[in-house]
Amino acid sequence: MGENTSGSGDSGGLVLVLNSGSSSVKFALLAPASGERTMAGIAEKVGTPGAELRIQRYPDHVVTEQLPEGHYQAVISRILDCLPGPGSGASGPGQAPLIGAGHRVVHGGERFTASVLVDDEVIAVIRSSSHLAPLHNPANLAGIEAVRAARPDLPQVAVFDTAFHQTMPPGAYRYAVPEEWYTRYGVRRYGFHGTSYRFVSERAAVLLGRPLSELRLVIAHLGNGCSVAAVRDGVSVDTTMGLTPLEGLVMGTRSGDVDPGVFGYLAERAGLGIDELSEALNTASGLQGLSGVSNDMRTVEAAAAEGHERARLAVTVFVHRLAKAIVAMVVGLERLDALVFTAGIGENSAFVRGQVLARLGFLGIAEDAEANARHGRDTRGRISPDGLAVAMVVPTDEELMIARDTARLTALGAPAS
Ligand code: ADP
Repeated sequence: MGENTSGSGDSGGLVLVLNSGSSSVKFALLAPASGERTMAGIAEKVGTPGAELRIQRYPDHVVTEQLPEGHYQAVISRILDCLPGPGSGASGPGQAPLIGAGHRVVHGGERFTASVLVDDEVIAVIRSSSHLAPLHNPANLAGIEAVRAARPDLPQVAVFDTAFHQTMPPGAYRYAVPEEWYTRYGVRRYGFHGTSYRFVSERAAVLLGRPLSELRLVIAHLGNGCSVAAVRDGVSVDTTMGLTPLEGLVMGTRSGDVDPGVFGYLAERAGLGIDELSEALNTASGLQGLSGVSNDMRTVEAAAAEGHERARLAVTVFVHRLAKAIVAMVVGLERLDALVFTAGIGENSAFVRGQVLARLGFLGIAEDAEANARHGRDTRGRISPDGLAVAMVVPTDEELMIARDTARLTALGAPAS
């Protein structure tokens, strides 16, 4: 859950960061200035009587409890009760106060171009965007409403995965489809992982010692979901995910781009319906579908190293598509200063990074094998020799970004309602 742990936090107060998913709630209590974690945890099987809450109090105290009333309200009330500090359930001397709750919200549509303080109108607009992310936005909202019910006075902030990409120009965000699909149904490219891209671009600028406002970055966020973004002078100008997080790169279980003709073809040849096709492309494709071994890059890499043919193919397709997408992102930048790798695979797989860099020599970047093997830890993130453009590894921390937005917005004023 991030590299900074333990400690009582900054004097300015602590933020509860919540990521409410369709069956889980992840949370962290952290200090927005330093990123220090006081507490973190996850509730799983939310929405069922088997709900289970696991709480870690840093540095090393872990408790697990069952929550038979497994709904969001019960889970979040319990999390709030367990928080240390004044103004929350369990108070302790010397604890910084809880200043707000920051929520990850997956889809902000075209209405949200930045994080916002939550009020009635914001809730209504998130609800009205739910058709764009039917699995995620309702769960994100349930988290917001549960905090509101338990602590009506606590300021809340919504941080959207899509907001950072609202700066994309129409050339990058429009699909070449009938106009009405866009005007009536909002069918356009939105992009995701925006909170990560914001954090990583700011951090890359610090590591490079250059102002973000002058940097042209391609960032590859490679986790269970994978995407690449072009960040020009601090703003997103292109990215690989689209209307949904299915577009673009090969991912753990998601196909990424396929010919849309596949839908009609398989409907006819295999008698598959829209739901089955969508389910297969989201959950049985990607590394899992290609390798037949796992959706987890560690397992696929290990199998490939042992000569497993399908695992090798999965890595080859993953790397080919990733390298191709990186090159495509440079079009929106017109110049490349740095290629940045982040998230689980990006931060930890020297092998994948090396394979990608081996295909990108013509961009003027190469691999510094030793620095790459050490994930750039001794070289301010850098994993390439000096050149026109550099390759680097920058660990992401979406929770910290959400905490910072929450602290900034709550300091500006109380929510409207
Ligand atoms: P999420 O998108 O759920 O936040 P992460 O950012 O944690 O996921 O990334 C998960 C992915 O990172 C998995 O595919 C996992 O196999 C991969 N990963 C983590 N560590 C390594 C490693 N050492 N080598 C290769 N892949 C890794």
